[in-house]
Amino acid sequence: MSYNSKTSSLTFVIVSAEIAEIRIDARQNSRSLYSRKTFAKDDVIAQFGAKETFSEPTYLTVQVGDNEHIELLPEYLECINHSCEPNCFFNTTTLELVALKEIAEDEELTFFYPSTEWDMDQAFKCTCGNKGCIGMVKGARYLSPENIAKYRFTDFIAGKLKSIL
Ligand SMILES: [Zn+2]
Repeated sequence: MSYNSKTSSLTFVIVSAEIAEIRIDARQNSRSLYSRKTFAKDDVIAQFGAKETFSEPTYLTVQVGDNEHIELLPEYLECINHSCEPNCFFNTTTLELVALKEIAEDEELTFFYPSTEWDMDQAFKCTCGNKGCIGMVKGARYLSPENIAKYRFTDFIAGKLKSIL
């Protein structure tokens, strides 16, 4: 347990794996995944698979196809939160979590939810605070052309985006 004076939050590490650890913020009741290593751009952070496959999305699943949504293995990867300035990307073709930029040890791992999700089960208002924050996060199908040009998407989502352009 550690008290983080910077964010005035009570943070607990609940799961620690070789590459990352889950931290719980007791005040905000939120889970996050923090890197325990340094990664260079394009490094493979982890390989992942499907614990289970569902035909409908939930707030924990990653979309790999039409009516195909997986719960992640290793499970701690489901604690990677959304950011509009993400540092990782779930490549659902190669089943690799890759670094989009250099990642420092102790940095929170984040990905851009619409990079894998076409139409999300639970839309939410993003509070990432980045300059380019997209606001409501609802899925790739709702993105502006500017944001479609800005982000990297899975092969599946890229194909869907092409079909509506
Ligand atoms: Zn944002």
